Amino acid sequence: MDVKFYEYDVVIVGAGLAGLAAARELTAAGKKTAVITKLHPLRSHSGAAQGGINAALGKNDSTELHEFDTVKGSDYLADQDCVELMCTKAPETIRWAERMGALFSRTEDGNIAIRPFGGQSQPRACYAKDRTGLTLLQTIYEQAHRAGIEVFDEWYAADIIYKDGKVSGVSAFNIRNSQPAIFNAKATMFATGGYGRAYKINSNAHANTGDSLSIVARHGLPLEDMEFVQFHPSGLGGSGVLISEAARGEGGRLFNSEGERFMTKYAPNAMELASRDVVSRAIMQEIREGRGVGVAKDAVYIDLTHLDPSIIMTKLPELRELAICFLGQDMLKEPIMIAATAHYSMGGIPVDINCHVRKNPTELVEGFYAAGECSCVSVHGANRLGANSVLEALLFGRHAGENILKDLDKLTLRKASKEDADTMIAEMNRIKTSNGDEQVPKLRAELQEGMTMKAGVFRTKESLVEQKEALKVLRARFENIRIDDKTSTFNTELQEAIELGHMLEFSMFIVEGALAREESRGAHYREDFPTRDDDKFLKHTYAYMDKEYNITQEYADVVLGKFEPKARTY
Ligand SMILES: Cc1cc2nc3c(=O)[nH]c(=O)nc-3n(C[C@H](O)[C@H](O)[C@H](O)COP(=O)(O)OP(=O)(O)OC[C@H]3O[C@@H](n4cnc5c(N)ncnc54)[C@H](O)[C@@H]3O)c2cc1C
Repeated sequence: MDVKFYEYDVVIVGAGLAGLAAARELTAAGKKTAVITKLHPLRSHSGAAQGGINAALGKNDSTELHEFDTVKGSDYLADQDCVELMCTKAPETIRWAERMGALFSRTEDGNIAIRPFGGQSQPRACYAKDRTGLTLLQTIYEQAHRAGIEVFDEWYAADIIYKDGKVSGVSAFNIRNSQPAIFNAKATMFATGGYGRAYKINSNAHANTGDSLSIVARHGLPLEDMEFVQFHPSGLGGSGVLISEAARGEGGRLFNSEGERFMTKYAPNAMELASRDVVSRAIMQEIREGRGVGVAKDAVYIDLTHLDPSIIMTKLPELRELAICFLGQDMLKEPIMIAATAHYSMGGIPVDINCHVRKNPTELVEGFYAAGECSCVSVHGANRLGANSVLEALLFGRHAGENILKDLDKLTLRKASKEDADTMIAEMNRIKTSNGDEQVPKLRAELQEGMTMKAGVFRTKESLVEQKEALKVLRARFENIRIDDKTSTFNTELQEAIELGHMLEFSMFIVEGALAREESRGAHYREDFPTRDDDKFLKHTYAYMDKEYNITQEYADVVLGKFEPKARTY
């Protein structure tokens, strides 16, 4: 098939909250903008966000408190200039979403309702029942549609066109018929979301395979702070499907097999509402010490039966349905089983405060932007607080759109040629014609199992070295795969093989980053180095991959500010 050519001012990969917010702003300002997404926009993972979106709207709250909680939650690794921008613009972002038509839950007197979330000193999560992300995604999609965005859905972006320090679009193929194409643009933005699917037990959508990270890394560009993967305390036992923090926010209590409310030992003040890393480790520690519940003793209980049933029915109806559907347990009548689940990725494509992608700690890539979960700006540092990432996606997505708008006059269109699609087409052909004896689902399962066991909630040098070696072997075996579907129509086998390649590569960054960081900070917990070491590691990791998949790392300064690093207790 001949390569098709498209020309735009801006091409955005990803149609979750970050991509759509940027696209809406750019299109409304009259810029010709294409949005490429492998899913229909409304199936983006943003739509799965249940619990809420933070903004300091409460009577006793302030943006400064929001900043403090975020920086403390991050274990002081967040860049404080970016945190300040996010927290001060949060209330305006909520009003913007509301004016766009988002229906937030309200108090009796008509104000936007807020609820407590982990690690927050004041309640500040605004919500729409337990369907916050879906409400926001539908609203922003409708408004972006109204502004006239052009969506290429069920298109797979496979590579950037990167020459002489400048990105001038992407190569992509139509999933319907494998039609290859070049999207040539003055500005390119990645908003491809998270990558929790590298783990066996995870809360993420199937599409969250982190494609853009290795796409960027294959060009020798860095990834930042990849060792910081967040494990959410409450995934449904066995599957990892998320039970939002709202369940603890509304008063859920955790119990082990001995009926002990064990958080009294780990976070006597904040209890179940300590930050996520603290609660996840507590749960996994109880399980490891034999106090788990269920047949395999691999879960603990969350109990909501003491709550007024109307709270569950009005504020957590979807959570109740999920637990009934996946576990057959009704939270109105009995405690339900949960355990930690891989949930969110703090690291990603490094960007500056205005969403420009970095070439290294000091230089930027021309014409290239990123926002949302795939990026690392870094507002979450070593650990994200609940309800801060829908905020990040919406706010920095819009912010990226505004900055692209400012930059566009200075950016020129560099003509692409059909050779710019060569790498993508070669990879598609290699996978289709490869006649080895390895199966993609098997390799993927081994990857996920290893990441959960050896680079999960608890890590040691031994476990990480083992996983590093295992990844090398898996990457080599990946060269020897065979897929059975050789057709061009909706070839999901081909797509899954490409995605596996991405997961294998960015997982190396997670493992190498974790190995080099000989301390424990936020979500990264080294049993052999259980304390935080600010002298050596109050630093961002920048890692680069060469053509042989070797990773080299350097460290970059954290932007500190008004909050001095302190011991973190809850
Ligand atoms: C179950 C769950 C509940 C959550 N609850 C909350 C919450 O209550 N509060 C909160 O703050 N955060 C929550 N989060 C986190 C938050 O939802 C996400 O971090 C955020 O929505 C990410 O938005 P995004 O726009 O960056 O990416 P996404 O919404 O994930 O969108 C990614 C987009 O990229 C596209 N894409 C990816 N790769 C390609 C490719 N190669 N080619 C083409 N398109 C591609 C996809 O099609 C999709 O459109 C939750 C996450 C999960 C998993």
